[in-house]
Amino acid sequence: MSAASTQIREEILYWCRESVRTGLNFNTQGNISVRLPEHEAIVITPSGIRYDVLTPDEMVVVGYDGVVREGDLFPSTETDVHLAHYRRRPEVNAIVHTESPYVNVFGALGKDIDPVLLNMVLYAKGAVPVMPFEFSTNSAFGERSAEILGDAVNAVVWANHGLLSVGEDLPGAFKVAVAVEANAQVLAGALALGTPRLLDLAEIVIPEGARLP
Ligand SMILES: [Zn+2]
Repeated sequence: MSAASTQIREEILYWCRESVRTGLNFNTQGNISVRLPEHEAIVITPSGIRYDVLTPDEMVVVGYDGVVREGDLFPSTETDVHLAHYRRRPEVNAIVHTESPYVNVFGALGKDIDPVLLNMVLYAKGAVPVMPFEFSTNSAFGERSAEILGDAVNAVVWANHGLLSVGEDLPGAFKVAVAVEANAQVLAGALALGTPRLLDLAEIVIPEGARLP
């Protein structure tokens, strides 16, 4: 029996397709993984397969040691990068990598993405830092990315490439990716027109028992 249930594999595929549908990725861009804590492993998308033809059984199970345990295809080229982030943040159970355009505007400028939208502070938890450009397919890159991400916020921009978002579950990590891209788009427009008012999570009063958007 597989370490990754059919349900988890189908959930990953669903969010892969959502990432294309919502304009965060195109074709084979990006990758998604989910932690399998009871197996000391992750399940991750394979490398170079278009999401519209990807099937649940093609997901790849990789141990925390980086060794492939299940799957006929190569795992994502950024598997070691995902593993580095799981090592650094024990509460993280899902990682989404996207290459959305407004995130990349800020990445190209080397400019942190400051929060101007409520969802940005609720889900990303603050300004999203930019990691200077370097090639992304090794664990040294992953460790630097995890260090720049730190322990307080839930996303990091890779300059001239894209975004890595983390969450306690996969819908949560995806919400972060959507929130950061929407925020980057509004921030770019706001900066063009004037001086935006930034939001700080610590200053927002959330009423007792309020439901989050
Ligand atoms: Zn990428």
